[in-house]
Amino acid sequence: MLPTNAQNGRQKPRILLLGGTVDARKLAEHLACVPGLTVISSLAGRVNEPRLPEGMVRVGGFGGVAGLASYLVDEGVAIVVDATHPYAKNMSRNAELACNQAAIPLVVFERPPWEPNEQDRWCRVDGVQAAAAVVDGKDNRVFLSIGRQELAAFSDCKHAWFLIRSIDEPVAKLPARSELILRRGPFSMDDELELFRKEAINLVVSKNSGGPSTFAKIEAARALQVPVVMIDRPKKHTIPTLSRLDEVLNTLSRMLEIPFTTMTETTEKRNL
Ligand code: NAP
Repeated sequence: MLPTNAQNGRQKPRILLLGGTVDARKLAEHLACVPGLTVISSLAGRVNEPRLPEGMVRVGGFGGVAGLASYLVDEGVAIVVDATHPYAKNMSRNAELACNQAAIPLVVFERPPWEPNEQDRWCRVDGVQAAAAVVDGKDNRVFLSIGRQELAAFSDCKHAWFLIRSIDEPVAKLPARSELILRRGPFSMDDELELFRKEAINLVVSKNSGGPSTFAKIEAARALQVPVVMIDRPKKHTIPTLSRLDEVLNTLSRMLEIPFTTMTETTEKRNL
């Protein structure tokens, strides 16, 4: 049951979906099929031409915890779903605090991390600075694809050579010995194998994003027996998280007391 102050007198319950991930886009697509519900996807605005989710979209920061708390009340948001990337820790912390402040329920959707198998050669580190310190050896040819926001940690690396892949031009100073390729995924394992072989990559730095869309680089590293410096996830939440899309949909359906027609059902009905 939702708190009585939620919705701000609006007829249709509104969900604020904090996104910027493939999972959030999928969730928006499913929720768009639910009659009697309004979904507002929120993007930070980091990528120049983002893939837009279905439904309403807003772009840009809220202005910290206070800004988000006011937004939630002003827009009559009934539930916040945090489906941001596992490394977007500031947004997630703000979401918890703002939801507490505005007494609005928060549902957290976070895909499970990748787990190494016996063929993987992972070295786990607890942040980008630690990763930069580990990889800066003179014979290292490092594949770096961690998003452009945190590249600054590698700016002062002098010895290793880096192949940096990013969707948009990075703002940070790039390491002295580096080459930049601007490309948007998804990438297949064949793409990654070809690239790693062509550039003689002997080290990969990765975030533990989880999910299939960026896993090909990890599979390629495994196949070529290239070690991966895996940056561990930050702890983002103090509340339990859901790791599957159907769990999130069921939880929202229960909380809103609306039976959800999922995308699959809608497609099935259309095909009847
Ligand atoms: P962050 O450090 O946690 O957030 C920094 C600030 O950006 C937040 O305080 C907030 O500004 C704004 N912000 C972040 N996500 C937002 C959203 N979905 N809607 C509106 N404002 C948002 O975030 P980040 O790590 O830079 O990630 C930014 C976005 O990129 C997120 O949406 C995330 O899902 C996506 N992403 C991140 C990564 C990654 O590796 N970090 C990878 C793939 C996608 P205010 O304080 O002004 O509200």
